[in-house]
Amino acid sequence: MKNMAAGLISTGLLAESTSVLGAENKGVIMKDDDLYYIQTVRGRIRPGQLGMTLIHEHVMVDFIGADKVNKDRYDVDEVFEVMLPYLKEIKELAVTGFGDCTPMYIGRDAQLLARLAEAADMHIITNTGLYKEPYLPQYAFEKSADELARIWIDEIEKGIEGTGIRAGFIKIAVNPGELIPVQQKIVRAAARTSLATGATLASHTGHGIAAMEEMDILEEEGLPLSKFIFVHAGSEKDREYHFKTAERGAWVEYDHIKKDGAEESVQLIKSMLEKGYEDKLLLSQDAGWYNVGQPRGGNIKSFAYLVREFIPLMKRSGIHQDTINKLVITNPARALRIRDKSNKSEGVSPEGKAISTFGRMRSPAKGK
Ligand SMILES: [Zn+2]
Repeated sequence: MKNMAAGLISTGLLAESTSVLGAENKGVIMKDDDLYYIQTVRGRIRPGQLGMTLIHEHVMVDFIGADKVNKDRYDVDEVFEVMLPYLKEIKELAVTGFGDCTPMYIGRDAQLLARLAEAADMHIITNTGLYKEPYLPQYAFEKSADELARIWIDEIEKGIEGTGIRAGFIKIAVNPGELIPVQQKIVRAAARTSLATGATLASHTGHGIAAMEEMDILEEEGLPLSKFIFVHAGSEKDREYHFKTAERGAWVEYDHIKKDGAEESVQLIKSMLEKGYEDKLLLSQDAGWYNVGQPRGGNIKSFAYLVREFIPLMKRSGIHQDTINKLVITNPARALRIRDKSNKSEGVSPEGKAISTFGRMRSPAKGK
């Protein structure tokens, strides 16, 4: 895994993006770029086209609860108008990739994201999956893991709610500590969805014990851990869990980068780099969002801090530009890329190992 990332960035293109700030972001040449794609809300792109990316942000969130959430609760034109300038602001800073991590039942709106992606000319990636209590619909408790996976596979392969807009990754959430049964089932469903589609699983975790249990379940299901992102890893204060996660081959996401606590974030990043895990680290801000129910979305946090101030801070702290490029350009693309099944190498994991479990979803639509 580690030597795989070496040579992903062509030195020629690196020169162009030497100043990440304000530089025209032309993406990077990635090894095996034609074997993978990234599913954005406007269609597929090659991983090398993604460019500088904020992998965990939110355009809109509605915390009303799974039984009450619906599209009549907000004026979509107003949300569009309010949020577009925030996306344009980061586009000006050369950000071209945006992972929208709002799951269904909490305000995910694929059409809104597609409209914004078009207007801001940005690669927005949305997700499928389920959050946790109290944001779970009743069926989350009733359906089997295979039945849940069937729903999510359809959102990745056919599209979301009849729009034809496809989810590009799986987003779930787990409770802290040992996983409760419904969350264990959701983790299994996510593993099966990933195995069937090649989509990556980002799990709101924030707790070391929970992350370890998740990875145990994923391994039991036969999923390579390179398809797993430990979301909110920075909330786990014991860094040994971060190192263990990276050691097992999964992604460690520090997604609470902000002005308050920036120095601590730099130290956290440096501790991962010193251990040699620069190929396993993702950065983002968990910022935004139009909060449904509040006037004009309430108090919205800009997405610009990471690029405008935190990247310069990382540089001043001695982190090399090549490493920064890896963290904000190469790693997000590698984390989100999906093996192109139309390619001859079907049934091969992103690591090149043949996996017998690929396609294990034998017509789960029949249900059990
Ligand atoms: Zn989030």
